[in-house]
Amino acid sequence: MTFSGPIEAGNTQMIDPFGRHVTYLRVSVTDRCDFRCVYCMSENMTFLPKKDLLTLEELDRLCTAFVAKGVRKLRITGGEPLVRKNIIWLFEALSRHLRAGALDELTLTTNGSQLPRFAGRLADCGVKRINVSLDSLVPERFKRITRWGNFEQVMQGIDAAQEAGLHVKINAVALKGVNDDEYDEMIRWTHGRGMDLTFIEAMPMGDIDGDRSDQYLPLSVVRARLMDKWTLTDIPFKTGGPARYVEVAETGGKIGFITPMTHNFCESCNRVRVTCTGTLYMCLGQDDAADLRAPLRSDESDRLLSDAIDEAISRKPKGHDFIIDRRTNRPSVSRHMSVTGG
Ligand code: SAM
Ligand code: SF4
Repeated sequence: MTFSGPIEAGNTQMIDPFGRHVTYLRVSVTDRCDFRCVYCMSENMTFLPKKDLLTLEELDRLCTAFVAKGVRKLRITGGEPLVRKNIIWLFEALSRHLRAGALDELTLTTNGSQLPRFAGRLADCGVKRINVSLDSLVPERFKRITRWGNFEQVMQGIDAAQEAGLHVKINAVALKGVNDDEYDEMIRWTHGRGMDLTFIEAMPMGDIDGDRSDQYLPLSVVRARLMDKWTLTDIPFKTGGPARYVEVAETGGKIGFITPMTHNFCESCNRVRVTCTGTLYMCLGQDDAADLRAPLRSDESDRLLSDAIDEAISRKPKGHDFIIDRRTNRPSVSRHMSVTGG
């Protein structure tokens, strides 16, 4: 196995115009997925031609350039990252930065379907924590939400991850009238297995087959309802992401709330995202982007790539403005979440 060389010395840190240090990179390694979650994709998706995708070697070079510029946390996502062919090669390659102390954390967000195959090998690569997305504990509901998902397989994946020693956090999108009667059970189930739980507000990204304004459930409402049953205490716990955490006195576990719609967390934003075609998005909620694939492919020394990253960071916007337009029902950001990976 050959990996591109050590990190070049002398690279500058990434500090945006608002003084925020960029230390967290999310990389989408594929736009494809073995599920078709109703809030994320339409049933008939057109995916990118394979030739447009960065190769695994290019993804390694790209991540390495960001690590050289001060990224301490790398999250691999998608689409479903574990359906990308030979994806373990990338984890193995990137694990050298963990061993060298240049990276604090290598992690991924997954729907869990491929974890029975890969959990052990991910742990061997130095992955310690993973996020598994799971919106329902009721198999028929799970099927309705994911359209193509297999509930049993995901449960086996979560078992495999815990057996491999990975710390699992469950992410659930709050969907009005779909899973909002399950949150107490989800708290009992996750905390009972030593897992944390994070709720995510549905974001208006990309065309889907249904009406988003029907599904939208503010987490302020979820939290208020949970407080009828559970004793929640705000805690300063941080994982480098945008979630705000509470501790549940009755279980000792944590619940995170990611509230892009009701609470603007942009002031502390430390992250940028790269798509599987090498497009850098400086903000999840804005369309401004920079192409890194051309500089990556035209200059083996990575000098042009480094310059393109610096130029893009100088344009990182102050914040986003997600709106679900109820008259037109159009998403405020036209790309799907599976492009930038959430
Ligand atoms: N396939 C993997 C998974 O599902 O975990 C990784 C990619 S998926 C796009 C990442 C996260 O984004 C998942 O937790 C998913 O539930 C969430 N997501 C997708 N579309 C969303 C939307 N429109 N609003 C809020 N969260 C969304
Ligand atoms: Fe696939 Fe994840 Fe999107 Fe569901 S949320 S369709 S699992 S990419």
